[in-house]
Order: sequence, then structure tokens, then C-alpha cells
Amino acid sequence: MNQPTQHDLPTYLNPDDLGPWGIYLEQVERVTPYLGKLGKWVETLKRPKRILTVDVPVELDNGTIAHFEGYRVQHNMARGPGKGGVRYHQDVTLSEVMALSAWMSVKCAAVNVPFGGAKGGIRINPRNYSQKELERVTRRYISEISLIIGPDQDIPAPDVNTNGQTMAWMMDTYAMKTGHLATGVVTGKPISLGGSLGRVEATGRGVFTVGVEAARELGLDLTGARVVVQGCGNVGGIAALLFHEAGAKVIALQDHTASIYAENGLDVPTILASNNPKVGLVGSNAGEIISADEFWELESDILIPAALENQITANNADRLRTKIVIEGANGPTTPEADDILASKGILVIPDVIANAGGVTVSYFEWAQNFSSYFWEEDVINERLGKMMREAYQATAAVAKQHNVTLRTAAFISACSRILEARELRGLYP
Ligand code: GLU
Repeated sequence: MNQPTQHDLPTYLNPDDLGPWGIYLEQVERVTPYLGKLGKWVETLKRPKRILTVDVPVELDNGTIAHFEGYRVQHNMARGPGKGGVRYHQDVTLSEVMALSAWMSVKCAAVNVPFGGAKGGIRINPRNYSQKELERVTRRYISEISLIIGPDQDIPAPDVNTNGQTMAWMMDTYAMKTGHLATGVVTGKPISLGGSLGRVEATGRGVFTVGVEAARELGLDLTGARVVVQGCGNVGGIAALLFHEAGAKVIALQDHTASIYAENGLDVPTILASNNPKVGLVGSNAGEIISADEFWELESDILIPAALENQITANNADRLRTKIVIEGANGPTTPEADDILASKGILVIPDVIANAGGVTVSYFEWAQNFSSYFWEEDVINERLGKMMREAYQATAAVAKQHNVTLRTAAFISACSRILEARELRGLYP
């Protein structure tokens, strides 16, 4: 009989190209020497607890039937129910959703919110479908994954190309299936359906908060500081706005249509207020249009990748001319690029800390839903600010203690918390 070996790779991935999951595994490799006795459990982090792949068939407006592939991956639930967004994107793969679910485990543990990590995705380009079609896709997807989600099991939320409306459809579908309304089954809901004040802005606000901490540490004055932002959505847009309001100059913005630049700073509030996501920055008439290469090579103080994975790689890391990278996106920097940035003395605030503001206010939303008692916005922002500052400071202290990057430091604290829970709970049966 064949004995399974400890380090077999999951058979459902291509061993020659593990994709984003391979990047996550490399990050875990880097942290393993620092886990001490808990290292005994590290294999736990290298395998998602549960993976569900679903077929999502829907009738399109023209009467034809389309099928989409959907996933929900629960990476680790030792510390609490699964938590993480659902993204709609034409390039979604299982490897990507696996990596994103694992980064959620690490993120929730890094900022110490009582959740495990999960993530969902549907391989679809939402720009090609009507609202009615997207509603049907969402409802069928939730119906298919309803076997494994629930307010104390696994709680979806918005991610790339999903929003409050998507969450409203998800909550309603779950309520229709179970026969009762449980608002805590998803977070990022509209305020009128049990959403939390401050949730929409939370991720961008968290990015800004850790940016302020890092700037203070480096002695960088934010007034007039040059900021470059990739992504104009919920994360990049709000972060750009907050840096602009703090007196920084947002000299460049990029979305999927164009990169725009203005030496003296872009008028961020006007650009965002008039931005039609269907047209994008290419139609904004603001600043000067520059190439993607020029965008990455701009001299700046702060660079915020707030779009998708794999943006700062061995191909462009060498050419970056900035002081601080704040990862608004999940997984924007590859491990090779991490090493290049570290050797150039560029401080990288990793995704698992930098963009944790979103899931932190999702935690507040979930807690408010259980008690049906809603907090005021300034209370939410104050608690969010405190948690983000504390997480940043604690990570910086671990980085100093072990002489490692902030990413490795965040992984040390987070993986230790997850594996400690794993060890205390023990194995069943
Ligand atoms: N999708 C967001 C993230 O990547 C938020 C997840 C949540 O609120 O559960 O962190």
C-alpha cells in the first residue's frame, strides 16, 4: 500500500505552475524557521481545509444558457468561522482563490479578529452582463455554496467587482433557502440591510492609517508627499482621497483603462466623483496619459498597488523609485520582487496588514448583526484606527526583533496564532 507522504502537493493543481498558491507556499516556507515548536503543525497551513467547486448555470437575457465556474475555499477555521470576499473576474482560478483564502487566514490572525480564512470567486467578466444576469449568477452561486456558509460557519463579503448590492442578493438567497433572515451571513451589506457604517471606506482607510504610521517611522512628512495609486475602486480610490485630504500630492492613478499623471498632483475628489467605472480613467480628461512602464518608474514617496495580484514582480521591482509600498490589493508583490525591494531599502507594508481594514469592519458588522445594535461611524473609525495602528506597531516590533521584512513578521505572528489554536484544539477524532 502506498503511504501518503507529508509533502505531497494537492493533486488538483498543476505541479509545474502552482500560480498564486505557489507564491503563498513560498511565503509560508520563509516563516517556518521562526515557528519554533509550532512548526510541527505547519503542514496545516499548506492545505486548505475545504474546497468547493460549483457549476453556476443561468439563463441570459437573450434566452440562452450560460455556465460559469465558481469556487468557495475554506483555508483554515481553527480560530473562528471562515471569512473572506467573493470576486467576479474573468481570470479567477482555483489556485488564486486558494491563495486568497489563505491570505485571509493570515490577515485575520495578523490583526487578531476571530475569524479563519476563506474566499470565493466566479470566473466571469461582470462587465459583459446585465444587472439581472448578475443577480441570477449571484443567487445560483450562493445557493450552490449554501451547504457550507452561514453566520457561524463561513461569511462571504465583497471583493473585486462585487459590492453591497451583490451582498444583498446573497443574504436574500440564503434567507429564502433557510427560511429565516440571518443578516450575519454576509458582510459589506447596504446600511439599510444591516450593513455597518464605515465598511465601504474601511479598507482604504486602513491603507491610509498604516501609511501614516510608516511615514512617521521614516520621518516622511505627508504634506506634499508624492503618492502613486494603482486602482480607483473601493480601496485605491478611498486611499487616494484620504492621502489627498491629508495634504499629500497624488501624482498618478491607474485603472484597467489608463494611467494618468500630473506633476503637481491630480484633483482626486473631482476625478473620482466623475469617474464612470464603465469608461474608466481613459475618459477622465485629467492629467496626462502615461504608459504602464512610466507609471511604475515614477519617482514617489508612497506607492499603493490596490488592484490585483502579481503587479510588482522581478520584471519591474528593480525600476521602482519609491520609499514605501502599501499593498491595498491582495498578493500584488511576488517573493522575488519582495527580495529586490528589501535590497533597495523600500519598506513594504504587506497586504495582510495593509488591507485588513476591510475585514476588521466586517468583523464589526458581524458583531453588530448578532446584537442588532448599531454603532456610530466615529466609534467604528476610532476602533478601526486603533486596531490598524496596533497591528502595524506589533508587526514592526517583530520585524525588528528577527531582522525580517514586515511581511515575514506579519506571517510569524499570524501563523503562530493559527497554529497555537490548532494545537490547543487538537486533532479530531
Ligand atoms: N475582500 C476583502 C479582503 O480581501 C474583505 C473580506 C471581508 O470583509 O471578509 O480582505
